[in-house]
Amino acid sequence: MTLHILLVEDEVRLAKFVEMELTCEGYQVSVANDGMTGLSLARESTPNLAILDWMLPGLSGVEICRRLRATGSKIPIILLTAKDEVESRVAGLDAGADDYVIKPFSMEELLARIRAHLRRTWKDNRDLLQFEDLSLNCDSREVFRGTRAIELTAKEFDLLEYLMSNPRQVFTREQILERVWGYDFVGDYNVIEVYIRYLRVKLEENNEKRLIHTIRGVGYVLREE
Ligand code: CA
Repeated sequence: MTLHILLVEDEVRLAKFVEMELTCEGYQVSVANDGMTGLSLARESTPNLAILDWMLPGLSGVEICRRLRATGSKIPIILLTAKDEVESRVAGLDAGADDYVIKPFSMEELLARIRAHLRRTWKDNRDLLQFEDLSLNCDSREVFRGTRAIELTAKEFDLLEYLMSNPRQVFTREQILERVWGYDFVGDYNVIEVYIRYLRVKLEENNEKRLIHTIRGVGYVLREE
């Protein structure tokens, strides 16, 4: 599969150069030349990694980073910066950036860092399911809504994991029963309804937006609305 990188850089020539190099390496690249466009591209195109210039018209790279993290995005973010002061680096990392590269930089170094971050997240991400502000770690069996940890019973966890395995796909009650309760389960569909209700109570404890929706007569789906 092709990995998708978002590049937000207002120096058009530099942006073109980096885009060309990344494309040669086999990445799919989206480019924005200002902060607001960069932020909306990051939200809409869900890249696997973002490279953000620090100083940008509209919205700084650090601000984009902060806003992405505030909405639960965990993609690796590399900041490009001409600022060499220690405080700036700290501010960038505090905003949630994973790394920074100081301009002028060598393309080889940037590529090496990109590879390192993608390797790390691709290893981790296989065990991490995410949808909106909901994240579920299949290994540690931890669930978070934003920064709020959610305690689930084993069955609740299995049910949520199944729904999160394919957001926006409607799962029929038959599928859910087979997958979560097993073929040999003796009982009826009411059990699903009961567990969906438990899950909703826990996921919406702070009046968060509903993510598990009922498709009347069919089953359930995880989606925005
Ligand atoms: Ca700039």
